[in-house]
Amino acid sequence: MMGPMRPVIVAGNWKMQTTPADAGELAATIARRTNEPDVVRVLCPPFVCLAAVRDALAADPAGRGVEVGAQNVHHELAGAYTGEISAPMLVGLATWAIVGHSERRRDAGETDILINQKVRRARDARLHVILCVGEQLAEREAGLAEAVVRAQVQGCLDGVEPPSIGDQGSIYHRAPWLTIAYEPVWAIGTGRTARGADAAAMAGTIRRTLGDLGFANRGETTPVLYGGSVTSATIDEFLAEPSIDGALVGGASLQPDEMAGIVARAALTARGRGAQPAR
Ligand code: PEP
Repeated sequence: MMGPMRPVIVAGNWKMQTTPADAGELAATIARRTNEPDVVRVLCPPFVCLAAVRDALAADPAGRGVEVGAQNVHHELAGAYTGEISAPMLVGLATWAIVGHSERRRDAGETDILINQKVRRARDARLHVILCVGEQLAEREAGLAEAVVRAQVQGCLDGVEPPSIGDQGSIYHRAPWLTIAYEPVWAIGTGRTARGADAAAMAGTIRRTLGDLGFANRGETTPVLYGGSVTSATIDEFLAEPSIDGALVGGASLQPDEMAGIVARAALTARGRGAQPAR
Protein backbone atom coordinates (compact mmCIF):
# COMPACT_ATOMS: atom_id res chain seq x y z
CA MET A 1 0.00 0.00 0.00
CA MET A 2 1.26 3.50 -0.80
CA GLY A 3 2.18 5.62 2.22
CA PRO A 4 0.66 9.07 2.72
CA MET A 5 2.08 11.67 0.34
CA ARG A 6 3.82 14.30 2.40
CA PRO A 7 5.91 17.07 0.86
CA VAL A 8 9.65 17.25 1.40
CA ILE A 9 10.40 20.62 2.98
CA VAL A 10 13.64 22.52 3.57
CA ALA A 11 13.12 25.65 5.66
CA GLY A 12 15.94 28.05 6.50
CA ASN A 13 15.85 29.99 9.76
CA TRP A 14 18.18 32.96 9.41
CA LYS A 15 17.65 33.95 13.06
CA MET A 16 18.95 37.48 13.89
CA GLN A 17 21.17 37.66 10.82
CA THR A 18 21.10 39.70 7.59
CA THR A 19 19.84 43.25 7.02
CA PRO A 20 17.35 44.68 4.52
CA ALA A 21 20.38 45.73 2.44
CA ASP A 22 21.75 42.22 1.95
CA ALA A 23 18.91 39.78 2.61
CA GLY A 24 17.31 40.05 -0.82
CA GLU A 25 20.52 39.20 -2.67
CA LEU A 26 21.18 36.25 -0.36
CA ALA A 27 17.65 34.94 -0.89
CA ALA A 28 17.91 35.24 -4.67
CA THR A 29 21.28 33.47 -4.66
CA ILE A 30 19.89 30.63 -2.56
CA ALA A 31 16.84 30.40 -4.84
CA ARG A 32 19.03 30.07 -7.92
CA ARG A 33 21.28 27.48 -6.26
CA THR A 34 18.35 25.36 -5.01
CA ASN A 35 16.07 25.38 -8.03
CA GLU A 36 14.31 22.09 -7.26
CA PRO A 37 10.54 22.24 -7.74
CA ASP A 38 10.01 18.91 -5.96
CA VAL A 39 11.13 20.43 -2.65
CA VAL A 40 9.10 22.98 -0.73
CA ARG A 41 11.69 25.67 0.06
CA VAL A 42 11.07 28.32 2.69
CA LEU A 43 13.35 31.14 3.83
CA CYS A 44 12.67 32.77 7.20
CA PRO A 45 14.62 36.03 7.52
CA PRO A 46 14.22 38.56 10.35
CA PHE A 47 10.96 40.57 10.26
CA VAL A 48 12.67 43.68 8.91
CA CYS A 49 14.02 41.69 5.93
CA LEU A 50 10.74 40.03 4.92
CA ALA A 51 9.83 42.65 2.32
CA ALA A 52 13.31 42.68 0.80
CA VAL A 53 13.31 38.89 0.54
CA ARG A 54 9.77 38.78 -0.87
CA ASP A 55 10.64 41.38 -3.51
CA ALA A 56 13.96 39.82 -4.48
CA LEU A 57 12.35 36.40 -4.90
CA ALA A 58 9.47 37.84 -6.94
CA ALA A 59 11.93 39.62 -9.23
CA ASP A 60 13.98 36.49 -10.00
CA PRO A 61 12.55 33.69 -12.16
CA ALA A 62 14.25 31.14 -9.89
CA GLY A 63 12.84 32.84 -6.83
CA ARG A 64 9.19 32.28 -7.55
CA GLY A 65 9.24 28.75 -6.15
CA VAL A 66 10.67 29.85 -2.81
CA GLU A 67 8.30 30.78 0.00
CA VAL A 68 8.90 33.35 2.71
CA GLY A 69 8.39 32.74 6.41
CA ALA A 70 8.54 34.71 9.65
CA GLN A 71 10.42 33.45 12.69
CA ASN A 72 7.67 34.23 15.19
CA VAL A 73 4.23 35.75 15.61
CA HIS A 74 2.63 37.43 18.62
CA HIS A 75 -0.15 35.61 20.47
CA GLU A 76 -2.57 38.56 20.19
CA LEU A 77 -3.99 40.18 17.07
CA ALA A 78 -3.19 43.80 17.98
CA GLY A 79 -2.82 46.02 21.02
CA ALA A 80 -0.34 47.58 23.41
CA TYR A 81 2.56 45.20 22.77
CA THR A 82 5.54 47.42 22.01
CA GLY A 83 7.96 45.93 19.52
CA GLU A 84 5.81 42.94 18.66
CA ILE A 85 4.45 41.68 15.31
CA SER A 86 1.10 39.93 14.99
CA ALA A 87 0.13 37.26 12.47
CA PRO A 88 -2.29 39.46 10.46
CA MET A 89 0.53 41.99 9.95
CA LEU A 90 2.44 39.34 8.02
CA VAL A 91 -0.18 38.87 5.33
CA GLY A 92 1.43 39.84 2.03
CA LEU A 93 4.91 39.55 3.51
CA ALA A 94 5.11 35.88 4.49
CA THR A 95 3.17 32.67 3.94
CA TRP A 96 4.89 30.64 6.66
CA ALA A 97 5.73 31.22 10.31
CA ILE A 98 7.99 29.38 12.74
CA VAL A 99 6.29 29.11 16.13
CA GLY A 100 7.72 27.91 19.44
CA HIS A 101 11.39 27.87 18.47
CA SER A 102 13.51 26.75 21.42
CA GLU A 103 15.46 30.02 21.35
CA ARG A 104 12.19 31.85 22.02
CA ARG A 105 11.17 29.35 24.68
CA ARG A 106 14.59 30.02 26.28
CA ASP A 107 14.94 33.79 25.74
CA ALA A 108 11.34 34.99 25.77
CA GLY A 109 10.00 32.42 28.23
CA GLU A 110 7.44 31.10 25.77
CA THR A 111 5.28 28.34 27.24
CA ASP A 112 3.23 25.68 25.49
CA ILE A 113 0.05 27.59 26.45
CA LEU A 114 1.35 30.77 24.80
CA ILE A 115 2.60 28.85 21.77
CA ASN A 116 -0.83 27.24 21.44
CA GLN A 117 -2.30 30.74 21.03
CA LYS A 118 0.39 31.68 18.51
CA VAL A 119 -0.37 28.57 16.46
CA ARG A 120 -4.04 29.60 16.31
CA ARG A 121 -3.20 33.19 15.36
CA ALA A 122 -0.86 32.08 12.60
CA ARG A 123 -3.35 29.54 11.26
CA ASP A 124 -6.18 32.11 11.34
CA ALA A 125 -3.98 34.44 9.25
CA ARG A 126 -3.69 31.56 6.71
CA LEU A 127 0.01 31.08 7.35
CA HIS A 128 1.75 27.72 7.21
CA VAL A 129 2.96 26.98 10.73
CA ILE A 130 6.22 25.23 11.60
CA LEU A 131 5.75 24.26 15.24
CA CYS A 132 9.06 23.51 16.96
CA VAL A 133 9.36 20.95 19.75
CA GLY A 134 12.36 19.25 21.33
CA GLU A 135 13.90 18.13 24.57
CA GLN A 136 16.86 19.48 26.57
CA LEU A 137 19.99 17.35 26.93
CA ALA A 138 19.31 16.58 30.59
CA GLU A 139 15.82 15.39 29.67
CA ARG A 140 17.20 13.03 27.01
CA GLU A 141 19.84 11.72 29.40
CA ALA A 142 17.13 11.06 31.97
CA GLY A 143 15.12 9.07 29.42
CA LEU A 144 12.41 11.72 29.32
CA ALA A 145 12.79 12.91 25.71
CA GLU A 146 9.65 11.26 24.35
CA ALA A 147 7.49 12.32 27.31
CA VAL A 148 8.71 15.93 27.01
CA VAL A 149 8.03 16.13 23.30
CA ARG A 150 4.64 14.44 23.67
CA ALA A 151 3.67 17.00 26.32
CA GLN A 152 4.85 19.88 24.10
CA VAL A 153 2.82 18.65 21.12
CA GLN A 154 -0.23 18.17 23.34
CA GLY A 155 0.14 21.58 25.00
CA CYS A 156 0.85 23.50 21.80
CA LEU A 157 -1.99 21.91 19.82
CA ASP A 158 -4.63 21.12 22.45
CA GLY A 159 -8.00 22.24 21.06
CA VAL A 160 -6.52 23.36 17.75
CA GLU A 161 -8.56 22.16 14.81
CA PRO A 162 -6.46 19.73 12.73
CA PRO A 163 -5.74 20.38 9.04
CA SER A 164 -8.62 19.10 6.94
CA ILE A 165 -8.80 17.40 3.58
CA GLY A 166 -10.74 20.46 2.39
CA ASP A 167 -7.48 22.42 2.62
CA GLN A 168 -6.25 20.67 -0.51
CA GLY A 169 -6.53 22.86 -3.58
CA SER A 170 -6.27 26.00 -1.44
CA ILE A 171 -3.07 27.84 -0.56
CA TYR A 172 -2.22 24.67 1.32
CA HIS A 173 -1.98 22.52 -1.80
CA ARG A 174 1.82 22.10 -1.49
CA ALA A 175 1.89 21.53 2.27
CA PRO A 176 -0.76 21.34 4.98
CA TRP A 177 -0.99 24.34 7.27
CA LEU A 178 0.83 22.53 10.05
CA THR A 179 4.35 21.09 9.97
CA ILE A 180 6.20 19.98 13.09
CA ALA A 181 9.95 20.42 13.49
CA TYR A 182 11.60 18.08 15.96
CA GLU A 183 14.58 20.07 17.21
CA PRO A 184 16.43 18.58 20.17
CA VAL A 185 17.64 21.67 22.01
CA TRP A 186 21.12 20.21 22.56
CA ALA A 187 21.58 19.91 18.77
CA ILE A 188 20.68 23.50 17.84
CA GLY A 189 23.70 25.56 16.88
CA THR A 190 26.06 23.13 18.61
CA GLY A 191 27.38 21.16 15.64
CA ARG A 192 26.03 18.04 17.32
CA THR A 193 23.15 16.20 15.61
CA ALA A 194 20.72 13.57 16.80
CA ARG A 195 20.90 10.16 15.17
CA GLY A 196 18.55 9.56 12.30
CA ALA A 197 16.97 6.61 14.11
CA ASP A 198 16.27 8.72 17.21
CA ALA A 199 14.69 11.45 15.11
CA ALA A 200 12.56 8.83 13.37
CA ALA A 201 11.46 7.40 16.72
CA MET A 202 10.47 10.90 17.80
CA ALA A 203 8.54 11.45 14.56
CA GLY A 204 6.57 8.34 15.51
CA THR A 205 5.88 9.74 18.98
CA ILE A 206 4.79 13.07 17.47
CA ARG A 207 2.38 11.41 15.04
CA ARG A 208 0.92 9.13 17.72
CA THR A 209 0.29 12.24 19.80
CA LEU A 210 -1.35 13.96 16.83
CA GLY A 211 -3.55 10.90 16.45
CA ASP A 212 -4.54 11.15 20.11
CA LEU A 213 -5.44 14.80 19.47
CA GLY A 214 -7.83 13.74 16.71
CA PHE A 215 -5.69 14.36 13.63
CA ALA A 216 -6.82 12.35 10.61
CA ASN A 217 -4.80 9.25 9.66
CA ARG A 218 -3.18 9.33 13.10
CA GLY A 219 -1.04 12.28 12.04
CA GLU A 220 0.41 10.48 9.02
CA THR A 221 -0.32 13.41 6.69
CA THR A 222 1.50 15.96 8.89
CA PRO A 223 5.09 16.64 7.78
CA VAL A 224 7.74 16.21 10.48
CA LEU A 225 11.11 17.89 9.95
CA TYR A 226 14.37 17.40 11.82
CA GLY A 227 16.31 20.44 12.99
CA GLY A 228 19.62 20.74 14.80
CA SER A 229 22.97 21.52 13.14
CA VAL A 230 21.85 20.12 9.79
CA THR A 231 24.38 20.56 6.98
CA SER A 232 24.82 19.09 3.52
CA ALA A 233 27.07 16.50 5.17
CA THR A 234 24.53 15.38 7.78
CA ILE A 235 21.14 15.70 6.07
CA ASP A 236 21.22 12.25 4.41
CA GLU A 237 20.91 10.39 7.70
CA PHE A 238 17.60 12.14 8.36
CA LEU A 239 16.22 11.97 4.84
CA ALA A 240 16.92 8.23 4.85
CA GLU A 241 14.17 7.90 7.46
CA PRO A 242 10.77 7.62 5.73
CA SER A 243 9.09 9.37 8.68
CA ILE A 244 11.26 12.52 8.35
CA ASP A 245 10.13 14.95 5.67
CA GLY A 246 13.01 17.39 5.48
CA ALA A 247 14.80 19.86 7.72
CA LEU A 248 14.61 23.16 9.54
CA VAL A 249 18.09 24.54 8.97
CA GLY A 250 19.64 27.33 11.01
CA GLY A 251 23.28 28.28 10.56
CA ALA A 252 23.78 26.43 7.28
CA SER A 253 20.78 28.19 5.71
CA LEU A 254 22.84 31.37 5.39
CA GLN A 255 25.34 29.59 3.15
CA PRO A 256 24.22 29.13 -0.47
CA ASP A 257 26.62 26.20 -0.99
CA GLU A 258 25.19 24.40 2.00
CA MET A 259 21.60 25.08 0.98
CA ALA A 260 22.40 23.85 -2.54
CA GLY A 261 23.70 20.57 -1.13
CA ILE A 262 20.83 20.12 1.34
CA VAL A 263 18.10 20.87 -1.20
CA ALA A 264 19.73 18.68 -3.88
CA ARG A 265 19.60 15.74 -1.46
CA ALA A 266 16.06 16.60 -0.45
CA ALA A 267 15.05 16.61 -4.13
CA LEU A 268 16.42 13.09 -4.56
CA THR A 269 14.34 12.02 -1.57
CA ALA A 270 11.23 13.77 -2.89
CA ARG A 271 11.55 12.07 -6.26
CA GLY A 272 12.27 8.73 -4.60
CA ARG A 273 9.04 9.13 -2.63
CA GLY A 274 7.13 9.92 -5.82
CA ALA A 275 6.71 13.67 -5.51
CA GLN A 276 4.44 15.36 -8.02
CA PRO A 277 6.24 18.37 -9.56
CA ALA A 278 4.97 21.65 -8.12
CA ARG A 279 2.27 23.37 -10.13
C1 PEP B 1 17.24 26.26 14.06
O1 PEP B 1 17.47 27.46 14.15
O2 PEP B 1 16.07 25.86 14.07
C2 PEP B 1 18.37 25.33 13.95
C3 PEP B 1 18.11 24.06 13.85
O3 PEP B 1 19.63 25.89 13.97
P1 PEP B 1 21.01 25.14 13.57
O4 PEP B 1 20.77 24.43 12.27
O5 PEP B 1 22.02 26.23 13.46
O6 PEP B 1 21.32 24.16 14.66
